[in-house]
Amino acid sequence: MTITLPMCSIDFMDTSMSPEEQAIADRITELRQELGSRLMILGHHYQRDSIVMHADFIGDSFMLSQKAADSDAEFIVFCGVHFMAESADILTDDDQSVILPNLRAGCSMADMANLPDVESAWSEILAETGLNDPINRQSPGDIPNDGKSYLIPVTYMNSSADLKDFVGRHGGIVCTSSNATGILSWAFDRAGADGAVLFFPDQHLGRNTGLSMGISEDKMPTWVPKIGSDRALTGAKIILWHGFCSVHKRFTVEQVKLFREKYPDGLVVVHPECPKETVEVSDANGSTQFIKNYVENLPSGSKVAIGTEINMVARLADSHPDKHIECLDDKICPCSTMYMIHPAYLMDVLEKLVDGEIPNQIIVSKEVQEGSLLALERMLSIKQ
Ligand code: SF4
Repeated sequence: MTITLPMCSIDFMDTSMSPEEQAIADRITELRQELGSRLMILGHHYQRDSIVMHADFIGDSFMLSQKAADSDAEFIVFCGVHFMAESADILTDDDQSVILPNLRAGCSMADMANLPDVESAWSEILAETGLNDPINRQSPGDIPNDGKSYLIPVTYMNSSADLKDFVGRHGGIVCTSSNATGILSWAFDRAGADGAVLFFPDQHLGRNTGLSMGISEDKMPTWVPKIGSDRALTGAKIILWHGFCSVHKRFTVEQVKLFREKYPDGLVVVHPECPKETVEVSDANGSTQFIKNYVENLPSGSKVAIGTEINMVARLADSHPDKHIECLDDKICPCSTMYMIHPAYLMDVLEKLVDGEIPNQIIVSKEVQEGSLLALERMLSIKQ
C-alpha cells in the first residue's frame, strides 16, 4: 500500500473523522479484537489522537519500555520511533516480535550520534583526561572503590541499539528524561572523585540535568563530533554531545515573555530537551509524564503554556477544558517522524499479523543485544 502523507498538517486539532478515517479506525478495532491477547499496542504521547485511541498503553519512552519488558504478548506494535522499538526488542523475549508500523519513523536527534563517532570521541577523551575506561572492570556497573577515576558513558534512550551496547560494555547506562537525575547520580557514584560522564546525544537534557544537580556550566564542555571539545576537558564533570531535538530547540525565551505579557498569572512548563535559557525562565520542566501530571494538578482556571510536541499539548488541552492550555510556540509542527505513524500503516501491519505474516519487525542483532540489554536493565533497576 502506498500512502502519501502531509509532513505538517493540523489534523491533530480536528477531533472529527472523515468516513475513510472512521472506516480505518473501525477496521483497526476489529483486527485488535481478532488478535486479542496476542497483541499489545504501545503509543507514545507524541502520537496523534487517531493512533493513541488504539493503544493499550500511552506513555513516555521510559514507561513504554517498562510495559514492553513486562509484556507476554506475542506481537508488540510500537507506535513511536525506531529507537523505541529497538529498545522494546532488546527487552522482550526471542519469541516476541516488535513491529514498527512505518519503518521510516526515526529520530533526527538519535541520528546525531553514531558508533564510529562515539568510539573516536571516547578514545580522544580518555587520552586527554587520563581517565580510566570501565570496560576493564571485572564487574562493570558495580561501584569500584579502587580510588581510580573513570569516564562513564550515559546515553539517552533516544539512541541506536549499537550505542546502547557500547554504553553497556563500557560500564555505563541508559537514561530517559524521566530519570536523568537518578541516572547521573548512579554514574557519578561509579566515576570516582575526579571522574566524568560522557553524555549523548542530547546536549540540552544533559546540561539542564547537570545544572539542576548543581554542576556549573564550566564543568560541562560540549563535544562536537569530528571536531572535538569546545574547551579543555580538565576538571569536566559532564561532557555533552552536540545533539539536539529539532522540535524542542524551537522553544525560546521570547515565547515565554510573550505568553507572560498575555497572561501575567500564566505558568510555563517545558521539556528538558529545550535550551537551558528557556528552561531557566520557565516555571517548571520535566519529562512528558511530568508535564502531564503538572497540568493535571493545576487548579481549574489555570493558564499554562507548554513547551513540548504539539499532539501531546493538543490532547492535554482537550482533556482539561476547565484550563487554558496552549503550545508555547503557536506555529510549531508535530514531530515529523512521530507523525509518520499513520492509522493506515497501523491497520496494514495488523492485517498482515492476522494473515500470519510478521511485517516491519525490528530485530536487534545478537552482537549488540548483550551490552544494550545490560545498559537498559541497569536503568530499569534504579528506583525513581
Ligand atoms: S520529538 Fe525530538 S527527540 Fe522526540 S522523536 Fe521527535 S525529533 Fe526525536
